[in-house]
Amino acid sequence: MNKVETILAELEAISKNPKKAMEDHKAKTGKGAVGVLPLYAPEEMIYATGYLPMGIWGATKKQILKAPTYLPAFACSIMQSIMEMEMEGVYDDLAAVVISSPCDTLKAFGQKWKGKSPVIQFVHSQNRDMEASNVFMVEEYKYVRKSLEDILNVTITDEAINEAIEVYNENRAVMRMFCDVAAMYPQVITPVKRHAVIKARQFMDKAENTKMVKELITELLAQPVVPFKGKKVVLTGIQAEPDEVLRIFEEFGIAVVADDLAQESRQFRTDVPSGKDPLYRLARQWQNITACSLAIDRDKPRGKYIVDLVKKYGADAVIICMMKFCDPEEYDYPILLEDFEKSNIRNLKIEIDQQSESFEQIRTRVQSFVEMM
Ligand code: SF4
Repeated sequence: MNKVETILAELEAISKNPKKAMEDHKAKTGKGAVGVLPLYAPEEMIYATGYLPMGIWGATKKQILKAPTYLPAFACSIMQSIMEMEMEGVYDDLAAVVISSPCDTLKAFGQKWKGKSPVIQFVHSQNRDMEASNVFMVEEYKYVRKSLEDILNVTITDEAINEAIEVYNENRAVMRMFCDVAAMYPQVITPVKRHAVIKARQFMDKAENTKMVKELITELLAQPVVPFKGKKVVLTGIQAEPDEVLRIFEEFGIAVVADDLAQESRQFRTDVPSGKDPLYRLARQWQNITACSLAIDRDKPRGKYIVDLVKKYGADAVIICMMKFCDPEEYDYPILLEDFEKSNIRNLKIEIDQQSESFEQIRTRVQSFVEMM
């Protein structure tokens, strides 16, 4: 195994075993983990406590038996999986769980939480383009901070949050760089590997993650760039899991050269701006997030943002990974289509269902799409 393969294998192992990542952190620091549901929770505040912020999404749960007691059948498949696992006690070792409320499913999730860990639910402002949004968000973040302090029995200072913001901003920059470098080496960074590197970030101390990904970038850049004969795509949606879907891309010679996935690039494409008051800085970051189905923009820039990605990375097409029963993504879809059509961008929509056992329909659609291209 060369160095690139070794680092990739390590990150892939972390991405597949968050429980071990949590136990390792506990053994090293004496502190456990705080779960973070999607999307845009102020992780820096958790990081400032010394606890490990740990993303809770993306685990595939094929059999949903208990979740329908509390969730309607038309709730998105990601939340069906989370609900099923919390009822099985999978998240009971978490010291707390932070839940934001950017969509209707998440709005009620705090009340429905059946795990043993205490829940901290907060609300994101919707009219983000006014100063009142920042004032509101600062109050919400004060609540999150106080709740974390009470539950974890710690004090979270402004200085500690500001330091955490620097760690996170550096990590965001390094992850953006990784995505750019990955696009240069599609033969090495296949869709499954690219996803594993980005997913591992959810379960790692961001300073350690930055170090590993920096090393990976250096090792990759030492390799020659060779022409890629397959098709290049940009992915958009909430997430492109399970791995079976990404393996289908690989089977038909597709490389992911950029993404607009909530679980991937949307996590690190917006830095926290500079300033003194950490809560106000975090509030401003929410205001600056753009082109996301969960952050309302009156002028709907997401389609244009993806068209620009296609041009920048020389992609052949966009694959829309539509999370089953995700309202915010479904509302954006007709607008995206219009923008893609205006710019002559080829596109394919596939449905992401974490409970799916069969991927033949996706395989057939991807195969025909590649043949058409
Ligand atoms: S996938 Fe969509 S509906 Fe489900 S929690 Fe995320 S944003 Fe909400």
